[in-house]
Amino acid sequence: MSRFWSQIVSKLSPYVPGEQPKTEQLIKLNTNENPYPPSPKVLAALAQEASEQLRLYPDPNAESLKQTLADYHQLSPDQVFVGTGSDEVLAHTFQALLKQDKPLLYPEISYSFYPVYCGLYEVNAEKIPLNDKLEIDLEAYRIDNGGIIFPNPNAPTGQLLPLDQIRQLLEFNRKSVVVVDEAYIDFGGQSAASLVNDYPNLLVIQTFSKSRSLAGLRVGFALGHRDLIDGLERVKNSFNSYPLDRFAQAGAVAALHDQRYFEQSCQKIIDSRQWLQQQLENLGFNVLPSSANFLFVSHPEKDAEQISQSLREQSIIVRHFKQPAEISQYLRITVGTQQECEQLITCMKTL
Ligand SMILES: *Cc1c(COP(=O)(O)O)cnc(C)c1O
Repeated sequence: MSRFWSQIVSKLSPYVPGEQPKTEQLIKLNTNENPYPPSPKVLAALAQEASEQLRLYPDPNAESLKQTLADYHQLSPDQVFVGTGSDEVLAHTFQALLKQDKPLLYPEISYSFYPVYCGLYEVNAEKIPLNDKLEIDLEAYRIDNGGIIFPNPNAPTGQLLPLDQIRQLLEFNRKSVVVVDEAYIDFGGQSAASLVNDYPNLLVIQTFSKSRSLAGLRVGFALGHRDLIDGLERVKNSFNSYPLDRFAQAGAVAALHDQRYFEQSCQKIIDSRQWLQQQLENLGFNVLPSSANFLFVSHPEKDAEQISQSLREQSIIVRHFKQPAEISQYLRITVGTQQECEQLITCMKTL
């Protein structure tokens, strides 16, 4: 606390990211990064970008990236917004579209940045409980609201909603913005991007951090009706004209041009996820069905925090959330390389 802080800063409770260890050789299964490197084409594009040109500002509108994303998703560039990671895209979305008189609805157990943005932008929100299988129940969102946001698949549970349930919600909920945060959609879900032309109140947000192995580059984007995109551009251009630097723009374009590499690396993770789920179940864990690059697991006898600490002693880090109470006996384990998954199972067997 400092008496120099503004009132709003005194009241914030900032997001706490998972640990990024600096020195030790750890198997990092705690922040849902991709265990495989980015496409070699991305690395080549970045090397090319390291030039004399860095003295010049990047394209403030990231036109080449927007066009590439538009082509990829069969939309037009004015239906695309890009930002520094999807976290920044989400932040602008809360400020531009989700701060309304009526409450914003989001799942009680979900991405923990949502309540943080509500605090930062003073957004009035109502948390909707998950059902008893820890699934999002979209029927419960059929109430008066100023906006709806949920991840699909949900975080940290990994559970996926089928596209037709999202379509049904959009049929019912036409008066406020519905945001689908698709950080993990490439690991087995169907994107709502295909619904953007049918529903002018739908915004789909994705990231290059997980399925494209580019968490370090910080690129995220939103797809939606041009009026929604315009709202985001107004906030962005009142905040930072050049959020995406030259590397981010060039690297993201190159990633989209290597479809084969992308599909292969997603498939490897999906295969390891299935293997890991089976092995954990053999060891007595309950594993929620996951369509993401992580598993959300609990053990009927072993304490989650205890498991997490024992793994840490054997140089493996996973994520344990102490809050809320309903998930305090769960661990969120990122799917690593097949070898890392095997090492995890070897350690688990000794606990
Ligand atoms: C990882 C994640 C993001 C943020 O990703 P960026 O690295 O900021 O692009 C957004 N939403 C959810 C649900 C996530 O898990």
